[in-house]
Amino acid sequence: MAPAPSPPPQRPWPIPKLLLRIDDLDHEGADIFLNAVQPKVALREAILASFKWLYTPETAPRNVTQILLVLRPMEGVAHTFGTQFHKEIHFSLDYIKGSAKRARDEIMGVLVHEVVHCFQFNALDTCPGGLIEGMADFVRLHEGLSPPHWRRTAADRWDAGYEKTAYFLDWIENRYGEGTIRELNGWMKDREYHHHVFKELTGRPIHKLWSIYCKILEEPIDDFTLVQQVLD
Ligand SMILES: [Zn+2]
Repeated sequence: MAPAPSPPPQRPWPIPKLLLRIDDLDHEGADIFLNAVQPKVALREAILASFKWLYTPETAPRNVTQILLVLRPMEGVAHTFGTQFHKEIHFSLDYIKGSAKRARDEIMGVLVHEVVHCFQFNALDTCPGGLIEGMADFVRLHEGLSPPHWRRTAADRWDAGYEKTAYFLDWIENRYGEGTIRELNGWMKDREYHHHVFKELTGRPIHKLWSIYCKILEEPIDDFTLVQQVLD
């Protein structure tokens, strides 16, 4: 009997070339960063986290060939920009200095969030900004890197962004199956955004999903009950 054909080898994840620039080595934030993480390892981990939650080896985008991380004194936390080939993440040394007490987790959390922006699909630039930010924090949340101040609370809008939307996406992922948010990202690869995507993925329109989610949040129930309801 002929041996069963072995499965085709999995494609490796497309890790881009990684570059680091530190604009002020005298800044305390630079020491904190370098003591907390190894830059290459940290960036690779952030890239693999983005791939793991939003792609498969077959669907991972291969257009990004280079990511430059710039650590510099600046206001705010971090931001990402660039072309479809070269991405640049600017991360504030002042912010890193202010996060010294939980440096590693905060640095990794911010890197994961920004690296998601390097790769995520954006529905040909029509994806609501709150969903873009929510997807980035969804990956951060699923990597166990949510900062202590995050709370699973209701907001006025499902696309309020950041952790508000991330927890909503997390609830969708739990309720409708692992991979649902990966499918949501994939849906936005080459078509313009439409709320209908949520109905396609879950069978329910976005406003219905949001009202169910908010109702669950309003009920004074313990986590176990919440989990039971989520899994029903
Ligand atoms: Zn962001």
